Amino acid sequence: TDLSHIRNFAIIAHIDHGKSTLADRLIETCGGLEKREMRGQVLDSMDIERERGITIKAQTVRLAYKAKDGKDYQFNLMDTPGHVDFAYEVSRSLAACEGSLLVVDATQGVEAQTLANVYQAIDANHEIVPVINKIDLPAADPDRVKQQVEDVIGIDTSDAVNVSGKTGLGIPDLLEAIVTRLPPPKGDATAPTKALLVDSWYDAYLGVVILVRVVDGTLKAGQKVRFMQTGATRDIDRVGMFTPKRVIIDQLNPGEMGFITAGIKDISDTKVGDTITDERRLAAEPLPGFKPSIPVVFCSLFPVDAAQFEHLRDSLGRLALNDSSFHFEAESSAALGFGFRCGFLGLLHMEIIQERLEREFDLDLIATAPSVVYKIHKTDGTIQELYNPADFPDVMKIDHIQEPWIKATIFTPDEYLGPILALCQERRGSQIEMTYAGARAMLVYKLPLNEVVFDFYDRLKSISRGYASFDYTIDSYEEGDLVKLSILVNNDPVDALSMVVHRSQAERRGRHLCERLKELIPKQLFKIAIQAAIGGKVIARETVSAMRKDVTAKCYGGDISRKRKLLDKQKEGKKRMRQFGEVEIPQSAFIAALRMG
Ligand code: GDP
Ligand code: MG
Repeated sequence: TDLSHIRNFAIIAHIDHGKSTLADRLIETCGGLEKREMRGQVLDSMDIERERGITIKAQTVRLAYKAKDGKDYQFNLMDTPGHVDFAYEVSRSLAACEGSLLVVDATQGVEAQTLANVYQAIDANHEIVPVINKIDLPAADPDRVKQQVEDVIGIDTSDAVNVSGKTGLGIPDLLEAIVTRLPPPKGDATAPTKALLVDSWYDAYLGVVILVRVVDGTLKAGQKVRFMQTGATRDIDRVGMFTPKRVIIDQLNPGEMGFITAGIKDISDTKVGDTITDERRLAAEPLPGFKPSIPVVFCSLFPVDAAQFEHLRDSLGRLALNDSSFHFEAESSAALGFGFRCGFLGLLHMEIIQERLEREFDLDLIATAPSVVYKIHKTDGTIQELYNPADFPDVMKIDHIQEPWIKATIFTPDEYLGPILALCQERRGSQIEMTYAGARAMLVYKLPLNEVVFDFYDRLKSISRGYASFDYTIDSYEEGDLVKLSILVNNDPVDALSMVVHRSQAERRGRHLCERLKELIPKQLFKIAIQAAIGGKVIARETVSAMRKDVTAKCYGGDISRKRKLLDKQKEGKKRMRQFGEVEIPQSAFIAALRMG
């Protein structure tokens, strides 16, 4: 296809404003799938995405559209994740496109990620078409929402397109707007090949699949290509595209998006953001690529069954290939044995990786409390970056500690403002800005990330009944009065439960953890003491009293099958036990305790 007939665009929006549904309608209208093949959110291919109703990986689809001008156009559409933790996926999708459809829910208006995403699109020099979605709903107020988009974001909405991704209303106008208002890509078919490595993942049938956006030259099967950053060279064995079905094609031309496979097995050969060029005719310079993602939340993952360690390593490798924002390295813990310290972009990212490991790779895992990266300035003048509370140095050697702070943007209906301000205050936040747009307030706060990784997001959602939205960027490192909080079970420190906290929060956290553990640890044959301590000083204490262990006692010998079930259950429980000194703690107690922070 001639460049002027190509449109590459991303769909960006706050979560739940209808990106995936809109993508479905565009695919259906352009005939990418037959009616009988359509199912809701076809691009959300992972099970977890379907169940949670969110898009994690950015997805790309090529569509054919015959416009009113009588010409045939090629659309390359990228659906993007809306959640704050996946901003990186958004940024690389944007680097592969020239324009964005900014979807805003006509019943909700601008939210925190609407703003975050649109700023990224503006940074990527995108042409932006505002799309007001869900106009089929009685509560839709497109005019108010357009006004709000103008007021808060400052982009013109006079030719915004009103649509319903659900009913298909307005979709023909949107397709025309894509043709007439988004720019075509630029590129030179005769120049040396230059293609951006947008994403890569492992496919059981094809092996490692690489998603590319060709800038100059072409990519075809048999061509020897070089990955400019890693220096690896490979022969392309297949070139294809997603419609969203996988289709093998002859070649990819300038401005086009598609995939290649090249017999790649090694993760390190595919670096997202790398430039692919022709080995026989090298490009002079690589493409600018994009900023690597930096993990900000860390936790350790241990297999419940030590024999699964190698399987865990392989599985983490597979996931890292599919998700370049995820990092891991081997570590060992006195209590939990061999495992991996893992870095994530945020809490949801962490939860999803854990869930995928358990589901797709059939692993049983123990995860430690999430932690951020601290900078420990020592008395000898060196700086230690602390990724794991277990490596916390001797306090005598510490001069001061710095922690990461974020700049958070919160949108909320006015009525929840009071409790949200109180929450930010309780989490050591300082207010930078508070403005009103309609009946909604926008708050800008500086907060220590450490206070946010625990349960800030959950609390925010519950006190605002789900109406507040939240987004953040890392802002600075600042000195704080931080201490290591240890949890002791019968005087044995449980390294997996230790954490770094602000001194002012230590008692609250410690007491909370001890109380929770008391509820979670089943009574055993002897008393169990649970303590929280800073250094040698105990700041909270609980006791689990002793009980008899025979769980079948209350069955009165009558119902055999019930008795068998109980015994089986107990056996199942045994597998998931961890030994602490004299005490066995069920894994579920850790997970539950670690969940609440
Ligand atoms: P995403 O998170 O932006 O990808 O949003 P989804 O496409 O997953 O949609 C979120 C929810 O809104 C789903 O329950 C959709 O069925 C619903 N939805 C999406 N578009 C429309 C629409 O135009 N009208 C109505 N009534 N519901 C919609
Ligand atoms: Mg989605």
